[in-house]
Amino acid sequence: MLATIASATVLGVEGRQVSVEVHVASGLPTFTIVGLPDTACREARDRVRAALTSSGVSWPQRRVTVNLAPSGVRKNGAGLDLAVAVGVLVAEGVIATDAVAGTGFVGELGLDGSVRRVPGMVPLVAALAGTSVVVPAGCSTEATLIGRHHVREVANLAELMAALRGDGPWPAPRADDALPLVGDEPDLADVRGHAVGRLALEVAAAGGHHLLMVGPPGAGKTMLARRLPGLLPDLASDEALEATTVHSAAGLSLPPGGLVLRPPLRAPHHGSSAVALVGGGTAFMRPGEISLASQGVLFLDELAEFPRSVLDALRQPLEEGVVRVCRARAAVCYPARFLLVGAMNPCPCGEGGPPGACRCSDATRTRYGRRISGPLLDRFDLRIEVTRAHPSDLLAGTPGEASAAVAERVVAARCRASERGVACNAALSGRRLELAGKLSAEAASMLESGLQSGALSARGLQRVRRVARTLADLAGRDGPLGEEDVCLALQLRAEPARLGAAA
Ligand SMILES: [Zn+2]
Repeated sequence: MLATIASATVLGVEGRQVSVEVHVASGLPTFTIVGLPDTACREARDRVRAALTSSGVSWPQRRVTVNLAPSGVRKNGAGLDLAVAVGVLVAEGVIATDAVAGTGFVGELGLDGSVRRVPGMVPLVAALAGTSVVVPAGCSTEATLIGRHHVREVANLAELMAALRGDGPWPAPRADDALPLVGDEPDLADVRGHAVGRLALEVAAAGGHHLLMVGPPGAGKTMLARRLPGLLPDLASDEALEATTVHSAAGLSLPPGGLVLRPPLRAPHHGSSAVALVGGGTAFMRPGEISLASQGVLFLDELAEFPRSVLDALRQPLEEGVVRVCRARAAVCYPARFLLVGAMNPCPCGEGGPPGACRCSDATRTRYGRRISGPLLDRFDLRIEVTRAHPSDLLAGTPGEASAAVAERVVAARCRASERGVACNAALSGRRLELAGKLSAEAASMLESGLQSGALSARGLQRVRRVARTLADLAGRDGPLGEEDVCLALQLRAEPARLGAAA
């Protein structure tokens, strides 16, 4: 007899519906799975047989063939186990065909018959066309986010069989016992001094401008970067679902309530491979750090220590907001709209700054700066120097302005940007920039002298205008950009040479 059960697999961050066809026929007892399964998926044979036996079902002494359709899509992981087991039960007549109509099944089986969680519950459920879905215990919060299905969760096969046969009730969903994550983002109020750093964070958050911080170790670059997500507004519902899908596909645990509602912060180590950063991999197309940081902040500490090839892999995503990964069997597209924050030492010894402190030769410093390509360096609208805070600032009793107060100005500035048809000023280009970045006479002459002296490139000019617009928006100023906005924007975009990044 033939049974067809709906399930799904994850490719990249996208779920694909899979029809699990189970055919039981007379013949020598065998158990075959076809339809492009990967290793974990092929091993379903052993898990399903053991799980059914442990649950008191005798294994059919006949020929069992499982086909995973469509055969062109690669099936990853163990999430199809549950559907295969249900298919065998239906094909054997243990469960009626009507009982599983319109229902999808997702979950891995333990040898004892337990049903276990698999990564990617959000994209998996999103791919299912039916009206209801059965998921492992503890997964209903994630599965409910899609909102199209009647979600049921089971802890083991015995519970599932009882419910499908009408012998017992569907188990009640397990309550989420995790505590809500309130106030876990570090606050700017803890930062003493660092006036320029604080301003740069505010401008980065308001305008979506990428930020590069250069300074000696221990100056507070990491401390500042970690406070940037706290200045960004909550994610809109479509952004939240996208971020949640990526986190779910990567197998990361989701916050209580299921949805990723706050902008994420990812800080991969400079030893990370290009695959870890960008995504992909040959067997399991996992989203990379830049996709996990989408809608949030990607913080690359020790930027100059990242291999050049890894940094070059960032350029296309920075340009397009998505990353395309092609492998022999599949091409996938991951979201990658992140705010990039880089931090680096001014030179290999770390000290940089005043002559005497640095022990590096000119040649070493030049080589160090060249590790970051011009095009990548150019992506940073904001380039600032971070120096160690003055002792009197550290000892002062008055705390800095809190993140919540800064975040209010950020929201107001982003509102002004949205009236121009962009999410933030970093996206202003062409005619929109011409309109929004009109210059007063004084501001124009200031930029003109910068261009004539070669201190400012044509591309740099556009970037300075965008940052100046953000500064004016934060101050609540409409109309043409004034001298003060342009002057401050120029200061926030220090020339690489001054930062020791390129001599
Ligand atoms: Zn040095």
